[in-house]
Amino acid sequence: MIILKTRDDIMRMRAAGKLVAQVLSLLESKVKPGITTGELNALAEAECLKRGAVPVFKNYPNPRGGRPFPGAICTSINEEVVHGIPGKRVLKEGDIISIDFGVLLDGFAGDAAITVPVGEVDPQVTKLIKVTEECLLRGIQQAQPGNRLGRISNAIQDWAEKNGFSVVREYVGHGIGRNMHEDPPVPNYGRPERGPVLEEGITLAIEPMLNMGTHKVITKIDDWTVVTQDGSYSAHFEHTVAVTSHGPEILTLR
Ligand code: MG
Repeated sequence: MIILKTRDDIMRMRAAGKLVAQVLSLLESKVKPGITTGELNALAEAECLKRGAVPVFKNYPNPRGGRPFPGAICTSINEEVVHGIPGKRVLKEGDIISIDFGVLLDGFAGDAAITVPVGEVDPQVTKLIKVTEECLLRGIQQAQPGNRLGRISNAIQDWAEKNGFSVVREYVGHGIGRNMHEDPPVPNYGRPERGPVLEEGITLAIEPMLNMGTHKVITKIDDWTVVTQDGSYSAHFEHTVAVTSHGPEILTLR
């Protein structure tokens, strides 16, 4: 069941989204060779504490039955697609890191992700990052009242594949509101005529994940970290978006 948000709900989601955006900007500025993913995580947790927000990823139950997620952020490097666990790993020149972060503030959630190059990266990897962000923006453009949700999915898949990249199938975007994960699922692939008709008050976390090689992924033995099956690099961008009468509003805009 899709829960429609009131104007007041969306006002509170703006505040949650703004916090997520500010923390991601801070983390982005800290991404350099030599920093550990654990240090980035500690920064995000400290910001939550300072602002009275709950880092919702922390202790998130493991759908595979393993341990709950231990971090406030997901840090996924190179061939890691999503759900990488922050820790002792040191970032090095040429890596790319996707940082995914979500909070609950004043009863509402915000969720967003960015992929950041560490120093100089291969030009094809730069293209992967650029195209993934473009896919997100093209998907968001379709978040209009009256459109089927499939228009978002189709716009993302179309741009990814036109640029020679593949779209992850096993993980998808989601509705968001009082909970981080709500209906409907938001796939990054599929036919434009599929899915529910969008209307004012629907709020979505749209999050394309693009791979340089196969779209297939596997989960590592830690029961969290999702990697590409062929070891090719992967990028991920996400925004929380409200469907309004005058079109999409990005609540996590940086
Ligand atoms: Mg999400």
